[in-house]
Amino acid sequence: MAKLYFRYGSMGSGKTIDLLKVSYNYKERNKEALLLTSALDNRYGKNKITTRIGISEDCYAFSSEDDLFEYVKNLTKKPDIVLVDEAQFMTKSQVDNLSDVVDYLDIPVICYGLRTDFKNELFEGSLALMELADKIEEIKTICKCGKKATCNLRIVDEKPVKDGQKIFIGGNESYIALCRKCYKECMKD
Ligand SMILES: [Zn+2]
Repeated sequence: MAKLYFRYGSMGSGKTIDLLKVSYNYKERNKEALLLTSALDNRYGKNKITTRIGISEDCYAFSSEDDLFEYVKNLTKKPDIVLVDEAQFMTKSQVDNLSDVVDYLDIPVICYGLRTDFKNELFEGSLALMELADKIEEIKTICKCGKKATCNLRIVDEKPVKDGQKIFIGGNESYIALCRKCYKECMKD
């Protein structure tokens, strides 16, 4: 039976590398992997999932209006798996759509995304996935101090950002994955 997976991790934990690895494994066995990403993320241009180490693959970039169940259902060739990057940017109903892909089309769906934003608050998509996913798995990475990194510090002009929009992509910001304590230290000054 197909399952809905949520694989979460902080910035730079290798979520996209894992996604492309799964896609590669499916293709090697002549199976079809459908790759989806949020159109909100235009860091690398539309319809591409790209990693920092330079590997990329074509994908469908969905908007928040898209019904992802209808999209998958109406494809001429049914995929053997659906892989979603930047899953935190999905709406709650899109997560529902993907659970329908699992339950009614019997296609496994693996969603990769951040758990929380730069204020340590859940994203809409991550919250819905935490509620609905059959399997929740953490992709781990370490903080500069060696502890597990669970927080994403947002940096603009070399300074930590304390307030602002939840979703802010394509600007001059960057993120550092830190443990909770190091994150607190950075937010103090
Ligand atoms: Zn730390």
